[in-house]
Amino acid sequence: MTVRYAVAFSIALPFVTQAQNPIIQGILDDVRIDSMMQWVGELSGEVATPIDGTSQVITSRHKNNAGNALSQTYLEQKLAQFGYTPVIQSFSTTGKNILVTKPGDGSTDEVVIICAHYDAMPGGILAAPAADDDGSGTCAVLEAARILADVDFVHPIIFALWDEEEQGKIGSLFYAGAMAANDALIRGVVNMDAIAYDGNGDTKARIHTRPVANSFEISDTVFAVREDYNIDLDLILTNPGATYSDHASFWTEGYGAVLVIEEFSADGNPHYHTPDDRIQYFDVPYYEKLAKLSIATVATLAIPVESGLVVGEEPVAGNALYAFPNPTADDASLWIEQRSMKRARIVLLDALGREVSVLHDGLLAAGKHGFTLPLAEQAPGGYVVHATVDGAPSQSVRVVRLPW
Ligand SMILES: [Zn+2]
Repeated sequence: MTVRYAVAFSIALPFVTQAQNPIIQGILDDVRIDSMMQWVGELSGEVATPIDGTSQVITSRHKNNAGNALSQTYLEQKLAQFGYTPVIQSFSTTGKNILVTKPGDGSTDEVVIICAHYDAMPGGILAAPAADDDGSGTCAVLEAARILADVDFVHPIIFALWDEEEQGKIGSLFYAGAMAANDALIRGVVNMDAIAYDGNGDTKARIHTRPVANSFEISDTVFAVREDYNIDLDLILTNPGATYSDHASFWTEGYGAVLVIEEFSADGNPHYHTPDDRIQYFDVPYYEKLAKLSIATVATLAIPVESGLVVGEEPVAGNALYAFPNPTADDASLWIEQRSMKRARIVLLDALGREVSVLHDGLLAAGKHGFTLPLAEQAPGGYVVHATVDGAPSQSVRVVRLPW
């Protein structure tokens, strides 16, 4: 007997492909460019600021200038205001990295790092405001720390501010070397170095990556975040990326890392490493966008946890994975529902367990997602859709391709 399933599934099915994660959208909405600009102004000596209870003007953050230690105290104060206990990692008589670790949910020790360097050029008696290089990245790290303090993530996040980048990435090399020596796991590093100058207003910015560890996956995430959250930037990928900033210290140790930077080669800041690297030359909306891009990338890599749900316990009810129509003689639709952003691999297997199609392989945001099950091109028979999601039991649903 042949049963004809007269279901009109040639019409467009209402797929709910939710690329955006509401938690990350909320993080983006929380970015406050006015407070970031205020901090850059304080860090670059445009305005005085209370440091240890005394009003101070930071005229230089060069490693040999007293302002370097002042700025370190300033940054510690800011991080403490956000509720953290910063740790100072000394790597020489003058060199001090500033580190904050925000714990994850306890399921993994693999950390995500967002970083920038707080030291400055030029040296000597000249002023070194270094507003763009790298006051811009430094204050984006502060803003990340402020906003992400109230959001729960699967992975621990480290907010890192390096010293003595300008002498050859000394602070970050020390840190990355220590991490490697301890076999520490790093899921990804996003380094920002000069992210506020766009002289010609073309919104171009560069993402530097290299075939080291999962660096391509991280740069792919940067581009996906730009798309998913409609951040109006013209990103250019540089591969193999330059090694002139702190991300390269992680490449040296075999860790995945990227650099987010203004279009330095074609439209670089002409005041770079001079006493004129001041906030008056910032393209403020451009700065806000690059900060948002970096913060949302780090949040995506760290995987937000939906409040009130236990991470690692995906719902295993039957409706978490659902195919319709089933049985079918044509393509069908598959839906999967996730409570939090997770890495997922969804495949179609034939009766012998062979993969005949990969529906998805990568991060999948929280929410309901629709996929086309390409059964029309398959021989009649029984098939299985198999979904493996990080930290959850795998799920399967059996589907039947009718012989008609
Ligand atoms: Zn720099």
